[in-house]
Amino acid sequence: MAGNIKLEVVTPERSVVSEEAQIVIAPGSLGEFGVLIGHTPFLTTLKQGIVRYKDVKGIERFVFVSGGFAEALPNKVTVLAQAAERRRDINLERAKSAYERAMGRLEGKVKEDVDFVRAKAALDRALYRVKLAETR
Ligand code: ATP
Repeated sequence: MAGNIKLEVVTPERSVVSEEAQIVIAPGSLGEFGVLIGHTPFLTTLKQGIVRYKDVKGIERFVFVSGGFAEALPNKVTVLAQAAERRRDINLERAKSAYERAMGRLEGKVKEDVDFVRAKAALDRALYRVKLAETR
């Protein structure tokens, strides 16, 4: 079946994407999945990672998401995430600082009680952001 689907990526603060797409690929907790028009409805949790989609012109677009939920309907995909940024919205210096902070905690350079799971998640977020911001 031909046609576009509506992609909405929403955080508690703002709508990050509200656009028609030819295909949406998202990092589901059980693995990456793709949605085309006419997909069977489903709900899933997301890992932190990159949502990719092809816009109506066929240009590939990338959005970082810090985990969350996705609802796929036959003509719409909605992603709810605590944080999400398009490539152009990522502050590279901020992401690099977050990377250094998280790495310092994981390497035991910080004299404080370290929550390693939290530090690893922060490191992963920073890595995704740096990688996405540096991709051209
Ligand atoms: P930091 O330690 O720099 O806050 P973080 O990974 O803890 O990084 P999050 O909790 O994921 O940050 O996000 C908090 C808010 O800040 C969200 O609105 C998110 O979109 C925004 N944000 C975080 N890092 C960046 C970045 N590098 N560029 C643009 N926005 C960012």
